[in-house]
Amino acid sequence: MTPRNIACVLAHPDDETFCVGGIIAKNASAGHRIDLFCATNGDAGKSAAVPVSSREELAEIRKRELAAAARILGIQSVETPGYPDGTLHTIDPAPLIDDIIAFLRRHTPAIVLAFGPDGGPPGHRDHRAMSRATTAAFFLSGLHRTSRLFYHSWQFPLPDPRLTVEPIPPTAGIDVRAWKATKRAAFEAHATQQLSAAAFETSFVDVERLAFAAGVPQPRAMIDELFEGLSS
Ligand SMILES: [Zn+2]
Repeated sequence: MTPRNIACVLAHPDDETFCVGGIIAKNASAGHRIDLFCATNGDAGKSAAVPVSSREELAEIRKRELAAAARILGIQSVETPGYPDGTLHTIDPAPLIDDIIAFLRRHTPAIVLAFGPDGGPPGHRDHRAMSRATTAAFFLSGLHRTSRLFYHSWQFPLPDPRLTVEPIPPTAGIDVRAWKATKRAAFEAHATQQLSAAAFETSFVDVERLAFAAGVPQPRAMIDELFEGLSS
């Protein structure tokens, strides 16, 4: 097995657990290196159970929760540049794209995991903004010649009829059954986010799905591991 680098470029603390928690845990336990770029500190979010008096305090708490979840999932490094939570779509994207390019060039990942333009099942604006910025950064970094960019995808329709956003059809289905307990433990580390328990259950699937977006083509329309067909 060749150890590879996997880079996750996401918007909020807990996106790593909801979207790709099983995939991260599985690949980390197989000896691959996982690095996370989390654009915001999640300081515009709600807090359940944990009393919080200010956005600054919530940012600090959520960074600690993210560090704990990252340890549980096996993520080696977490970068939190502190872009504005909830309003990523309103900022000048150029500095954000530059930061993502620098992150990608530093880690030279074989695989980049990002949001699709749909913004995931909730269609979150921050997720959609991160999809655009990450896609631009992937090409501008030059890594599109050697790496593969996947967007988060999911089973559709979802059991919750309010989640009507349709995903890009998946091209990778990763069996994460053996890592579901790890994923749940990572969610529990996000103590302020337990109001999202119902959404978490929606994400708590046996097979996590991804959609090929760019880079080195897949050898088949549906693969069951990330690196199939990538030269080492
Ligand atoms: Zn999010």
